[in-house]
Parts: sequence; structure tokens; C-alpha cells
Amino acid sequence: MKSIQKPIVIVGAGFAGMTFALNLKNLNPSLPILVVDSESNFIFKPLMYEVLSKEIRIWESTPKFANIFSDAGITFLKNYLTKISFKENILEFSDELKLSYQYLVICTGSIPNSFLIKGVDENCYFFNDIHDLNKLRYFLKKSQKNSLYKKLFIVGGGPSGIELACKIKDIFIDQFEINVVEKSNEILNRNKIFNREQAERALEKRKINVLLNSTVKEVSKNKIIISNEIGTTALDKDLVIWTAGVKPNLSYAGTDEITKKFGRIIVNNKFQIKNYKNCFAIGDISIIEGMEDLPITAQVAMQEGNHLAKNFELLIQGKDPLPFEFQDNGEMISLGIGEASISGLGFTLSGKLAFELRRLIYTSKLPDITESLKSASSWIFQKKAIFKKITKKDNSI
Ligand SMILES: Cc1cc2nc3c(=O)[nH]c(=O)nc-3n(C[C@H](O)[C@H](O)[C@H](O)COP(=O)(O)OP(=O)(O)OC[C@H]3O[C@@H](n4cnc5c(N)ncnc54)[C@H](O)[C@@H]3O)c2cc1C
Repeated sequence: MKSIQKPIVIVGAGFAGMTFALNLKNLNPSLPILVVDSESNFIFKPLMYEVLSKEIRIWESTPKFANIFSDAGITFLKNYLTKISFKENILEFSDELKLSYQYLVICTGSIPNSFLIKGVDENCYFFNDIHDLNKLRYFLKKSQKNSLYKKLFIVGGGPSGIELACKIKDIFIDQFEINVVEKSNEILNRNKIFNREQAERALEKRKINVLLNSTVKEVSKNKIIISNEIGTTALDKDLVIWTAGVKPNLSYAGTDEITKKFGRIIVNNKFQIKNYKNCFAIGDISIIEGMEDLPITAQVAMQEGNHLAKNFELLIQGKDPLPFEFQDNGEMISLGIGEASISGLGFTLSGKLAFELRRLIYTSKLPDITESLKSASSWIFQKKAIFKKITKKDNSI
């Protein structure tokens, strides 16, 4: 690696970018690092369901970037990346700022994918970031004052759809008739069998309808049009939450300069972008060439951020970087208020104990934030401290 003349620039401070920045600073405290994100706050996405159910408060899962990074001695800039000129090593931002870089790490995550289905963008709610969370919270709060049995459709029987369905049912009980629409023949089709079985039970217990082998054709203001083996039906709806898929958030990356697969940037097993060895892509936006496709999860993003930090340190020392290997540390899903299911890490567990353990594992991973917040009388930080004593930090999530 050439000697470092400019700060290492990281764009996107989610799970991948945050892990990379904090670990690199830890390994090499004198290294200048600049982190840029379009938001002011980190959002711990796996805890968004608990914010919705008020099991935790919003500020507990959304610490401020400025606090996290200033505590670590890292420079933070709030700005929105609009263009990368890979050949010239220049970044452009929405306020017309231009920044030249020597080494760049991009990790801007995913956005919902509506698959260009008519009416989805205009008439659906999403559940991917803090803005979606606030919008949905507002709608649900408003609905509480209105009549019962509103028709709610959740499109997508993956973890987000199932976790949301159970949580909303537990919060609002008879307020909503909940329907999960899934295009394949089972829910959680990419998840562990144990978690799927627990989720099926949780849905049944809550009388949540599951429409399998069903595809959404259109969503209008008052209707959702669903097609299955019986035919195509237009059903009345009050709310549709779209969790049917995500796509990489890469609006700033021109198509001619970088190669992509499934819309994600192809990188080698050291996360370098083809033809641009000084540029790295990690987290949801990238896909590793020659490796089995990894799940699009925070667990992967954090392991990648951690590995890239170690590789940077090796490069600085003039040593060869090491190829990335993913370690599957299991998966956890919440199944309503106070319940969860965990599979992996050498065991399976469901129910209340699994819920507590999931919460403890997540709180142990929340970024270390300011002393003032830590001293707040909140279970999240008390338990984080306890949990850190009883378990070593790993990258399971
Ligand atoms: C509701 C929900 C629950 C989830 N639960 C789990 C779970 O239980 N376990 C699990 O492993 N995974 C879970 N995931 C998936 C996980 O959150 C993602 O895989 C993970 O966040 C990806 O990390 P990332 O760093 O690639 O992207 P992100 O964490 O999304 O971070 C991307 C960052 O880039 C910033 N950004 C984007 N565009 C720009 C731009 N143009 N300029 C500047 N900044 C930009 C964003 O503001 C954001 O801070 C969940 C996701 C959701 C939505």
C-alpha cells in the first residue's frame, strides 16, 4: 500500500462502515479516517420492531454518528454522495462539495425493491430506515383511534414481514386483520428450519393469515390485486407494508465504470472493486466474486467491516491482505412482544428466554456511545454492560 497521504474515506456508516471505521481506528489510532453519511443517526435495524412496539425507545437504537465518531477520534461529515468518478478518484455530494480520495470504502446499504410493480412506490409503506419507521409509527398511532379490523397486508414472508406481522398483531390485537402475502410456497424460505417452524406457530397462534404462492400485481389507493392459482383478485386494503425485497443503494455509481451482479458491485475476496484496487465495497452493496452468495444481513456486513479493517492494517504494514471467509453465527428472529426464536451458535431456543437472549446479544453490539447516554437509566445499557461481562464480542447477529 502506498503511504497514506489523505484520510481514508468511508461513505455509509451502517453496520459495515461503522464496524470498519471503529475497528480500523482501534488497530491504528493515528490513521486519519473520514466517515460520510447522509443521516445524522445510526439505526440498529434489527431493533426497529421493538421501537414500533415501544419495548425500547427510539433514541436507544439510533445513537448519533457525531457522538460515536468523535468519541473514537474519527471525523464525521453529514452529506449525501451523488457521484463517484472512479478514474479521477473524486466524490461529489449533494451540496456540490467535491472530495478527492486516495483510499475509498463504500457501504451504502440497501433500499426497498418494488420490482416496478404498479402502485407499490406510491401506495405502500416500507420498513427499511428511520423515515419508514416514523411514517409507520404515525399511521399506526392514528389508526388506534379509528375503527377495528382494518385490513393490513404485509407483502413478503421473509424475516421482516414475519417479524412485523407478529409485532403489529401483539400491539394492536383486534385493530387489524393481518395478511402476509408470499410468492413462494413457504414463509422464511431462506431461513433456518427451526426458526421457520417457530414462526409458523407464532403466526397461527395470532390468527395471522398467510397467502402462499401469491403474487402482488398492483397496489392502488384502496385495493391490492393479488394473483394465485385460483385467479386474480382485487381486495380492499387499509394499509400495505412492502417487505418483499431490497436492492443495493447505488444511485451514485455509474454503470459504465464498475461491474455488477444482481445490481451489486462485484468485488474480489479482499473487497477490492475490479480495476480500482484503492476502492473497496462492503455490506449489502457488494457481492464477492467466486464465493457462494452470502445473505444480505448485518451479520455479514459486520464481519466484512471487521475483516477489511484487519486487511488495511496488514497493507499498511506492507503485508498481504487475507481473503474473507464468512462464519455463520446463526440467526435470530423476534416473534411478537416478548418472544423470539434463535437457531445456530450450536443451539436452538424459542419463546421468552430467546427474546431476552436476542435483546442482550443486540445490545452488546450497539456502538459504544457517549457517556451521557450510557448513564441514562435504560435497560439497554445496563444489560449491555452485564452481557459484555458474560460473553465475548463476536459477530453473530
Ligand atoms: C427491519 C430490518 C431488520 C433487520 N434485521 C436483521 C437481523 O435481525 N439480523 C441481520 O443480520 N440483519 C438484519 N437486517 C439487515 C441488515 O440491517 C442489513 O443487512 C445491514 O444494515 C447492511 O449493512 P450495510 O452497512 O451494508 O448498510 P446499512 O446498515 O443500511 O448502512 C448504509 C448507510 O449508508 C448511508 N447512505 C446510503 N446512501 C448514502 C449516500 N448516497 N450518501 C451518504 N450516505 C449514504 C445510510 O444512511 C446508512 O447509514 C435487517 C434489516 C431491516 C431493514
